[in-house]
Amino acid sequence: MRHLIALFACSLVMATASASDPAPKSAKPAVDAKSATVKAILEGKPTVAGKPMLKPDLKAMAAAADAATAAAKPAAAPAPSAASEDQAEVDLSVRIAERLAELRAQQQVRAAKAASAKRAADARRRKEAEAAIAVAAKPKNGTHWSYEGEYGPANWSNINTAWARCGTGNRQSPIDLRDGMKVDLEQIAFDYHPSSFSEVDNGHTIQVTVGGGNFLTVGNQAYELQQFHFHRPSEERINGKGTEMVIHLVHRSVEGKLLVLAVLLERGKANSLIQTVWNNLPLEKKQSVSPSILLDVNEALPEKREYFTYMGSLTEPPCTEDVLWIVMKQPMQASPTQMALFSRLYPLNARPVQQSNGRMIKESN
Ligand SMILES: [Zn+2]
Repeated sequence: MRHLIALFACSLVMATASASDPAPKSAKPAVDAKSATVKAILEGKPTVAGKPMLKPDLKAMAAAADAATAAAKPAAAPAPSAASEDQAEVDLSVRIAERLAELRAQQQVRAAKAASAKRAADARRRKEAEAAIAVAAKPKNGTHWSYEGEYGPANWSNINTAWARCGTGNRQSPIDLRDGMKVDLEQIAFDYHPSSFSEVDNGHTIQVTVGGGNFLTVGNQAYELQQFHFHRPSEERINGKGTEMVIHLVHRSVEGKLLVLAVLLERGKANSLIQTVWNNLPLEKKQSVSPSILLDVNEALPEKREYFTYMGSLTEPPCTEDVLWIVMKQPMQASPTQMALFSRLYPLNARPVQQSNGRMIKESN
């Protein structure tokens, strides 16, 4: 009967014990220690090791069962009557069973709490991930950009979703023109003539929109001049060297293909076309003026017509690619006074040079 109680206690202990709890590494406790452990378990107090019996401990519980057996069979004490001994065994086994049931219940509560905490953490993580995706997917539609600081060239692609090319494109402009393939490039046919014009300070440069009918033909394709504008310093470099300013003449074919002709400007004698543009500067930004005089864009072209050519992009947002670039080799001149006047409006409005990424550059022999 005593052995049966011990076996019963043991099996309960085994059934309750969590496999994740390693057994203490101490030597097998003496009988006194076992008794103390049994007492502790029964009273729900911390064990000898000082840790509360939050989770049943295999060895300790086994020891408890042993001790229970031992307690039920005292060697030296005078033998009590058989009936009271049996009653004591029954009481003890009931108390052990109750305590084990209590421990099992506590363990279930802890497991339920842990599962609930995990569910909450998972839900929180899922929510955060969804929020991050929502932020990333939200289209950006900023329109303000500049040449320096927070809204400068390095951040253009982050301002507006439609300007992504400014950051991810691999055929961007301007570039440093070097190691060009020297070949006999065809002559560019210019068909410019005095035209009406309007001009605006658009917040990034002075831009002159030219009346229709000014054409440039290259590669058997005609492109019509739309507008020209200025940068300081020049965006283009030739073998690492730039000039004080540059004029960009933006052309478009009937099919919508873009061609930009760049004419470098260096200090020298005054340029009459530039003087006409400066004479008619609007007083207010973003207000277009349309003078009654005509403008002859031929005055922007150098005498020599050799050039570099490569495929690039617009040099300002949205940085559209598939733009045919023609950079005239011979610079034009503007007077120091003309240069100084522009620098008062735009001391710096040039995008830094971009990676050429192995693009072919051809240049006139
Ligand atoms: Zn430009």
